[in-house]
Amino acid sequence: MLFKKEDVEVFPISVPTSNELKSINFFLVKQGRALSLIDAGLNNEECWNSLQKTLKMHDYTLTDITEILLTHHHSDHIGLVNRILSTHSIPIYAHPDAILRLKRDGRYMNMRVDFFKKLYQEMGCGQVGEKQVIDINNPIILNDDNRIDCEIQEISSDHLLGFTILEIPGHAPDLIGFYNKQNKWLFAGDLLIENMSSNAFIEPDYNGNRIKSLLQLKHSLEKCLQLQVDFVFPGHGPIIRRPTDLINKRLKRIDDNANKYIHIIKSGITTVSEIAQFIYREKYEIKFFNIMSEVIGYLDYLEFHGKVNKTMEKRIWHYYC
Ligand SMILES: [Zn+2]
Repeated sequence: MLFKKEDVEVFPISVPTSNELKSINFFLVKQGRALSLIDAGLNNEECWNSLQKTLKMHDYTLTDITEILLTHHHSDHIGLVNRILSTHSIPIYAHPDAILRLKRDGRYMNMRVDFFKKLYQEMGCGQVGEKQVIDINNPIILNDDNRIDCEIQEISSDHLLGFTILEIPGHAPDLIGFYNKQNKWLFAGDLLIENMSSNAFIEPDYNGNRIKSLLQLKHSLEKCLQLQVDFVFPGHGPIIRRPTDLINKRLKRIDDNANKYIHIIKSGITTVSEIAQFIYREKYEIKFFNIMSEVIGYLDYLEFHGKVNKTMEKRIWHYYC
């Protein structure tokens, strides 16, 4: 499909993956003199070759890219930044809360490890939790290979290069959408994915306080719903036309799942670790980080709505209805 309207042209770059994400997407957007790259894939040859191919197909070269805009700090959205920057120096823009994460700031990284150690201990995960914090394969270990070395511009206003900047946190605390109001096109990072529900990952903020990710994600989906967007350009999977039904489906799923958690807690299972093992069984250790994010997210959600409360017993949180 060709995305050309009102002097804006989008050239999607989509690299297939073998997992449930289906693809890794990033986008070249031509507006006037600017050729912006929104996100930068993974740091691998497939993404690099796809970028080159797409540029060539439209008679551009790497040095025609005028800036890189990042929707959030995850490694599958920033992979090629250093490589592009090594060919020519251009501005990189990201949310202020992305900077320390993109820079792999030492103090922030240490704080983050301490945060997860304490969190998993308080959620009753014991040795499994301790092991996960030091496991290099755990997605909470922000891999040093993806550190962005150059200067990053903080996006501090509501507008940039013809886009309206939307704060849509939840999947990541620094997630932003680049919205072309005229065409109703939203480059939304991982807010909305067609074939799977976006994860609301648990993260600390810069002060080490836990962010209520699922509440944020729900709020961001509602924000997107109100815009009556025509196309969502997502970080993974197919481009989504008129996303209203899909957003409503995702919102309904959050409420349905929340009810499921109430039933489990009423049955007498009270810690996050026990709830996670009850639902996910042998997957608990394999997909620990995602599962813990999900369970904690739902308990936050229920607590916020006054449906559960928690008490600390022997340094572990217990939830009751
Ligand atoms: Zn992501």
